[in-house]
Amino acid sequence: MGLSIIDKKIYLLYHGNMMKICVIGGGAAGMAAAVMLARRGNSVTILERGERLGRKLSATGNGQGNVTNTHMSAEFYFSDDREKVARVLSRFSEGDTVEFLESMGGIFLPDARGRVYPASRQASAVTDLFRRELERLHVNVVFGTHVNSVTYVEDFCIQWAGGQMRADAVVLAAGGKAAKNFGTDGTAYALAEGFGHTVTPLSPALVQLRCDPKEVRGLKGIRVDANLILMRQNRQIYSTRGDVLFTESGLSGDAVFRASSHAEKGDRVILDFLPDVPAEKVHAVVSRGGMLCVVHSGLGRMLAAKGGEGLVKNFPLTVTGTLGFDYAQVTRGGIPLKETDENLMSMLQKGLFFAGEILNVDGVCGGYNLQWAFSSAHAVSEGI
Ligand SMILES: Cc1cc2nc3c(=O)[nH]c(=O)nc-3n(C[C@H](O)[C@H](O)[C@H](O)COP(=O)(O)OP(=O)(O)OC[C@H]3O[C@@H](n4cnc5c(N)ncnc54)[C@H](O)[C@@H]3O)c2cc1C
Repeated sequence: MGLSIIDKKIYLLYHGNMMKICVIGGGAAGMAAAVMLARRGNSVTILERGERLGRKLSATGNGQGNVTNTHMSAEFYFSDDREKVARVLSRFSEGDTVEFLESMGGIFLPDARGRVYPASRQASAVTDLFRRELERLHVNVVFGTHVNSVTYVEDFCIQWAGGQMRADAVVLAAGGKAAKNFGTDGTAYALAEGFGHTVTPLSPALVQLRCDPKEVRGLKGIRVDANLILMRQNRQIYSTRGDVLFTESGLSGDAVFRASSHAEKGDRVILDFLPDVPAEKVHAVVSRGGMLCVVHSGLGRMLAAKGGEGLVKNFPLTVTGTLGFDYAQVTRGGIPLKETDENLMSMLQKGLFFAGEILNVDGVCGGYNLQWAFSSAHAVSEGI
C-alpha cells in the first residue's frame, strides 16, 4: 500500500525521528500545545505575531486568571458539535488542567463557585509558568511573525513578512476575532480557508450590553448582585443571577456576560436588585423608610425619581446592541468542529491541526474558554 508523505513522516516518528512542528499563535492554546508536544520529544516552534507570549492569558479573570471550573460540562459550550466538545473535554478534564499547570509549578485552587485560579490570583504568573517551561523544553519562540500564508506541497511552508519556515505539522492556534488589542483580529481564519475550510458566522460573546444611555444615566460604577431576565417580545429568553455593573453605555459584569450570549438588539433586560427578598417586604420597608439600606443609595435615588419601589424588583432596560468584538472576551463561531477529526486535525489537510478559540467553540463565563484552550491543545498533541 502506498503511503502519503504525511503517513511516511508519522511512520518515521514512530521509528525514532523527531517531528518538526510549527504552532501559529502564542496564546493559551498555542503555548499549551507547544509544551505538550515538546514533552513528547518533538521539535516545536511557536510563531507569535506580537512581542510577548500569552498576553490575553495574562489579562484573564480580571487579571486573576480563572483557568478552569470544577463544574465542567459540554452544556456550558456553544458549538456546531457539542458531542465532540464533550469527548475532547473528557480526554482532558478540569482536573487534568490543574495537574498540567501544577506540573509546571504553582498551586491552583477553586473558589466557592468552582472557579479555579492560581493561589497567587495573578494571571500573569500563569503565563510566566508557561514561558519558563517552554524555555526549559527548548521550544523555539519567534516574535513579530504575523503569519500570512500556510501552504502544503511535500511539507508545510509557513510564511510571514520577511521570513518563512517549513514543518511536518502545523497547529493553528491563532485565536478568534475578539479583543483585537491582544493580537486577535480575525485575520487568521483566512489561513484555514486557504485549505478549503469554512468559517461559521462570527459574533462577539461575553461582552457588555449597550442600553439607551438615558436609562442608565447616573448609575455608572454601581455594582449589584441581581437577577437578570432577558425578554424578547414578552417571552423570557434567558435568566441568570450574578454581578451586574452599570457602565456609561450600559451593563457589564458576570451575569451580563452570560446573558450577552443570548441577547439581541431590541431585547429587554429586567433586573431584580433584591432577588432574595419578596416584593411585599420591599414594598412594606420602602413605603415606611425609603430606599436607605435597601439598595445602593445612587441607585435608590434613581429608582425613587423614576417611579418608586416597584422598580427594585423589576427594573427594565432596552438592549441596543453590544460593545462588539473589540470589547468581547470570546468569539462565537469559527472553524466548524465538523471539519476536524477527533484530534482536531483538518479533514481537508492531513497534518494541519486546530486548537483554542479559532474553532467554533465558546464557553460561558467562568474558566470554560481556557479549559477549551487546554483540552483542545491536548487532543492536538495526541493527534500529532
Ligand atoms: C479580557 C479577557 C478576559 C478573559 N477572561 C477569561 C477567564 O477568566 N477565563 C477563561 O476561561 N477565559 C477568559 N477569556 C477568554 C480566553 O482568554 C480565550 O478564550 C483564550 O485565551 C483563547 O486562547 P487561544 O490560544 O485560542 O487564543 P489567544 O489567547 O487569543 O491567542 C492567540 C494568539 O495568536 C496570535 N496570532 C493571531 N494571529 C496570528 C498570526 N496570523 N500569526 C501569528 N500569531 C498570530 C495572537 O497574537 C495571540 O497571541 C478572557 C478573554 C479576555 C479578552
